[in-house]
Amino acid sequence: MSRPALLDRIAAARAQREAQGRVRARRTVTRRDGVRVEFGGRWLVNFCSNDYLGLASQFAVAGALQDAAAQHGVGSGASHLVCGHHALHDALERELADWLGAPRALLFGSGFLANLAVVQALLGDEDLCVQDRLNHASLIDAARLAGCRLRRYPHNDAEGALRQLRATPDAAAMIITDGVFSMDGDVAPLRELALAARVQEALLYVDDAHGVGVLGPDGRGSVAAAELDVQGVPLQLATLGKALGGYGAVVLGDETLIGHLSETARPYLYTTALPPALAAASLAAVKLARKDAWRREKLQALVARFREGAARAGFQLLPSDTPIQPLVVGSDHDALALAAALEARGYWAAAIRPPTVPEGSARLRITLGAAHTEADVDGLLGALAVSRAELAQAGR
Ligand SMILES: *Cc1c(COP(=O)(O)O)cnc(C)c1O
Repeated sequence: MSRPALLDRIAAARAQREAQGRVRARRTVTRRDGVRVEFGGRWLVNFCSNDYLGLASQFAVAGALQDAAAQHGVGSGASHLVCGHHALHDALERELADWLGAPRALLFGSGFLANLAVVQALLGDEDLCVQDRLNHASLIDAARLAGCRLRRYPHNDAEGALRQLRATPDAAAMIITDGVFSMDGDVAPLRELALAARVQEALLYVDDAHGVGVLGPDGRGSVAAAELDVQGVPLQLATLGKALGGYGAVVLGDETLIGHLSETARPYLYTTALPPALAAASLAAVKLARKDAWRREKLQALVARFREGAARAGFQLLPSDTPIQPLVVGSDHDALALAAALEARGYWAAAIRPPTVPEGSARLRITLGAAHTEADVDGLLGALAVSRAELAQAGR
């Protein structure tokens, strides 16, 4: 027998990660106070959270969670279709559908699960799934799970998407894109993609994990910002764990598509429903996200301040107007060194390395939030400049 030994393979992969500066380790946060977090006995200003609107620690949101948990308990007890579906889930789905302008919304345990569900429920062996090269890992895995043919087009190239659809005219097809790209911060060309989908009779699915709450009128996301609706984008994903500060996700679309998901998607059927109290917290968060335009205005002002300051200091940022402001460093070791130098000065911006981003494009994924102050942003800029000088001197 010549069966490969799994443990040997794991050891070799680990050794390779060590050599490449690709070891991944969790950092344990012991306390949080808005954008300040404590770990290892030190407080740092956090510049790598997706809590863009500062809702995760908002009083009304945490209060809604507490009240609902006191009243209804914690776990939902079962999947939605058995007996886990609660009136608080219904209320949240209705609020999200109303906000985002879709006939119906369906809650999922997470964005990752929702993406697995959507693709698996819609596409099978013979079908075609056309995706942006930089789409989120969950979308790539979703296509693999569905067993369909996966074709990836160059980043933000709607023409490329169109070519791939034309090459396979006989297959049922979807185009899938991030609305805001999670590691780059740029926005997909949704109008062009919607047109490509229309002429090719493909279904467009937009994963707007980082757009909802942040972009567009009333924070309705990248789809609304592109002046598209459920006709142009029949399905979209919003996550509850990013700008909305909670946990979970929702898929929005018309009655037929959402009905199909709710009855057939395995990652919907065979998993426990979100705790109802979490739905209550997200309901409170959505209401604040809709109402508090100042959170988006403040965020935009901080993004502009950061970009201006970075340009003045000679830092090359990626072209992004969203709160995701990556600073591409290049090598994994250099990205880690810069993150460590910032951390020594009290700022936390995690180094993001391959395979999360393409080879040779390791970066600090700096994210801004409405809970940051101008002084936080100026402090980060100062720390970046000093860190860069220090690393240059050390010959990095
Ligand atoms: C974070 C993210 C997801 C996954 O959402 P979770 O709720 O965290 O599982 C999906 N798509 C994109 C683009 C994301 O950034």
